[in-house]
Amino acid sequence: MADVTYLKSLLGTHPDFPKKGIVFLDIFPILRDPVAFETLITHFVYHLTSKTIPSLPSRKIDVVVGLDARGFLIGPIIAQRLGAAFVPVRKQGKLPGQCVSASYEKEYGVDSFEMQADAIKPGQTVVVVDDLIATGGSAKAAGELVNKLGGKIVEYLFIIELTFLKAASKLDAPVYSIVQSD
Ligand code: 5GP
Repeated sequence: MADVTYLKSLLGTHPDFPKKGIVFLDIFPILRDPVAFETLITHFVYHLTSKTIPSLPSRKIDVVVGLDARGFLIGPIIAQRLGAAFVPVRKQGKLPGQCVSASYEKEYGVDSFEMQADAIKPGQTVVVVDDLIATGGSAKAAGELVNKLGGKIVEYLFIIELTFLKAASKLDAPVYSIVQSD
């Protein structure tokens, strides 16, 4: 599809960032260009509203969950277009009030994600959004938070999926990504 080719062409590639041996894929050139940013959001919204997602026969998404930090840049816009709520998942200690938490493994040690305990009502349909899925550790932890509150995840959405890491097999709902990188 032309929009996928266009968005892919804008991604930045940064070898040895944030450390040697890692090739960092940068989504910010897309956000810098208003036409590209609109193309990105429209692509996600079209996917969520015009195609039948097997786990969402009603096509009604109640909540968009965005992951700290780049999920915050696209999640709220998608939520607004869908008429859905936006709920952030943040690193531990950043959210006020009662929270649920889930830990996940990072390259060095363990980190924790939190979500406000009243953010999702039991039975609400949820999509989880982030810029990129690598090992899937952070998406899996976000999924655990949604499940703790009784939400029903219908899909995990990413701009980029590092397919060689096979993270999709670790998650409890299908993964949709615009660009697949192997
Ligand atoms: P995972 O938990 O799937 O291993 O890592 C995904 C998380 O790391 C996402 O929140 C994502 O923002 C970040 N991340 C890891 N590598 C990259 C990369 O190359 N580019 C971008 N934009 N984010 C990355």
